[in-house]
Amino acid sequence: MKCSIEGCSGVYEERKIVHTISHKGQVIVIGHVPSEVCSVCGDVLFKPETVRHLEELQKTEFRPARTIPLYEYA
Ligand SMILES: [Zn+2]
Repeated sequence: MKCSIEGCSGVYEERKIVHTISHKGQVIVIGHVPSEVCSVCGDVLFKPETVRHLEELQKTEFRPARTIPLYEYA
């Protein structure tokens, strides 16, 4: 699929990405989220079922597969 960003000539490729969300004041990092990523500008799209799944995950208690350190930019 062609990129939806105006003027971008890239196409979306299926990729598994690391997705970060804020949940009740906590930072949740979810690995291997299926997504479509533009090969040129890096724009990320989620399929509707992926968005639904992420919302479902937030309703349940998160059980981390493992914990990782969080680094601050500033
Ligand atoms: Zn693009």
